[in-house]
Amino acid sequence: MDIKYDVEHNVLQVDSIDLEPQSRDNNFIGVCSHCNSDVTSMSYHSYKDGMLVAAKCNSCDTIYAIMYDGDWNWQGEEPISYFFDIKNSNDLKVLDSIDKKKLATVFTPAEASAMYAKARGEKYVRQYLYRARKKYTDFKDLFGIQIDI
Ligand SMILES: [Zn+2]
Repeated sequence: MDIKYDVEHNVLQVDSIDLEPQSRDNNFIGVCSHCNSDVTSMSYHSYKDGMLVAAKCNSCDTIYAIMYDGDWNWQGEEPISYFFDIKNSNDLKVLDSIDKKKLATVFTPAEASAMYAKARGEKYVRQYLYRARKKYTDFKDLFGIQIDI
């Protein structure tokens, strides 16, 4: 499994599928395999026929994805080492769904690349993004698509 986690919004991403949290309960859930300290749940997610729980070690801050079947039998766990931001991820999906010709009608290449860079979580030229933001209303008026990056 390819697992990523958005710590701020508690969204797990498994093989590129976003799993919104069912709950954000903080429960003692086990013991850290690195340092033997308590591991506390951060969020619970339905996955296939069971549950995936994102949980964090209270001592070394390792974050785990812990897998259970539908009867809460432990199925396995793995440390999560990849993180993402669901907001950026959604922004990128919006951009990718827009016809490039439409983007080019309203935004200069520099503005468009600043929007993409922001959505990817990369460095961007603020000045170009600010200019682009001023045109979001125009873009919506023209094509009916709301951009919020
Ligand atoms: Zn630990």
